[in-house]
Amino acid sequence: QKAQIGVTGLAVMGRNLARNFARHGHTVALHNRSYHRTKELVENFGDEGTFLPAETAEDFVASLEKPRRVIIMVKAGKPTDDVIDEFAPLLEEGDMLIDAGNAHFADTRRREAALKAKGLHFVGTGVSGGEEGALHGPSIMPGGSKESYKALGPLLEDISAKVDGEPCCVHVGPDGAGHFVKMVHNGIEYADMQLIAEAYDLLRQAGGHSPADIAEIFTGWNEGRLGSYLIEITAEVLKQVDPDSGKPFVDIVVDQAEQKGTGRWTVQSALDLGVPVSGIAEAVFARALSGGADVRSAAAKAGLPGPTASPVGGDLQADVEQALFASKIVAYAQGFQQIQAASAEYDWEIDPGAMAKIWRAGCIIRAKFLDFIKQAYDKDQNLATLLVDDYFLDAVAGAQDAWRRVVVTAAEQGIPAPGFASALAYYDGLRAKRLPAALIQGQRDFFGAHTYHRTDKEGAFHTLWAADGRKEISA
Ligand code: NDP
Repeated sequence: QKAQIGVTGLAVMGRNLARNFARHGHTVALHNRSYHRTKELVENFGDEGTFLPAETAEDFVASLEKPRRVIIMVKAGKPTDDVIDEFAPLLEEGDMLIDAGNAHFADTRRREAALKAKGLHFVGTGVSGGEEGALHGPSIMPGGSKESYKALGPLLEDISAKVDGEPCCVHVGPDGAGHFVKMVHNGIEYADMQLIAEAYDLLRQAGGHSPADIAEIFTGWNEGRLGSYLIEITAEVLKQVDPDSGKPFVDIVVDQAEQKGTGRWTVQSALDLGVPVSGIAEAVFARALSGGADVRSAAAKAGLPGPTASPVGGDLQADVEQALFASKIVAYAQGFQQIQAASAEYDWEIDPGAMAKIWRAGCIIRAKFLDFIKQAYDKDQNLATLLVDDYFLDAVAGAQDAWRRVVVTAAEQGIPAPGFASALAYYDGLRAKRLPAALIQGQRDFFGAHTYHRTDKEGAFHTLWAADGRKEISA
């Protein structure tokens, strides 16, 4: 008996993916650097399906049907290269190495090119949904060649999450496209979490609500247009009471947010592509600010003064819901724009609507709202920004007065809301008929003779600033 698929790397993610394949009736070859994990999997879950455990890489490869499909689920970075170096010499032309870890898309591009030269398919694949998703159905974002998807896609679709029977798995595009899209998914996740955290902070500090009250508010919001996994779990976290102290759980946790790096990667890539993903950037920087213990304690010691007291007006709770929804639309619009820009840069031909479709279940940013994103791109795949789609345009138009009030309240109360404020600034930047960028062009021309374009004539112009300031020459 041969296995249809093999998994090497059987820590929490690999183990659960292997079990998911087995539960769907596939025979799964198992391998891990240290054999004890392989043994434990078979001992604990062997009755869930058919597993072929192997102690060596050679035995593992020999137990796979051809073309071989090997999923690598190890630590990203050098361990992934080590495992590729171990397996590539054992494989034959047409076999597939599938990296399902959180690799940087540039590494995936490099690995794909190297393995292609050896006749092997390398499929960088995003997998979202954490360990629960891996076991019960993740959202899967495979890159690599179209040909590899023919042999691999049906298996991945089988174990993926489903919405109305449709799999949350689609061939994203060639080489690094899958890992790129997974990276942006995580970047959007950072932005969404930051915005939710700001909503909580405003309701607590400006609204005077307790964590338990805010949990109720979020549970209510979860029934409406904000309905999403992240809102749902936020309510659960806020409800939690620490059994030792009897205090709200959120009050006993150190307020320094950590990060593993996919948010930072998203922003780094956006800087290279020149796409303003300010929502994701603010979220990454807000985590960095929270983690800057030395700077924060210096500020605390110096007693940086806050604003003089002013009353909070209006229906804060309703306003914050509007601000959260509008800011979220901006963050997603920016993330999708980054996917479109990368797709153009690398010739990936990514269908953005398909990404919204496969994120509707099995991943951390799953939300009702993704249906509307899918519909927007179904209408126009080349939409310049989601903000001009009818649904989102109307939603933001309806929210904007409340959104502005919330940003004013945050500023007046001295409550940091970088996500809400920068999203609003981005929106106003897009709306502006004239931007002060014209003045920046003037400054650049003044000190660096960088030239500028005119609104009324073709060509590049430079003004001789030091002399009479009027003379123009075409560059
Ligand atoms: P870890 O990232 O903790 O990696 C542990 C696994 O990597 C073990 O199987 C370990 O083998 C193996 N490994 C480490 N170094 C080497 C090496 N040099 N050679 C061979 N094998 C090595 O496991 P996770 O299951 O948490 O994650 C796996 C991948 O999935 C990562 O890339 C992660 O970023 C990604 N991911 C994780 C998610 C999560 O929620 N945890 C969600 C989505 C993706 P050994 O047992 O011998 O030490």
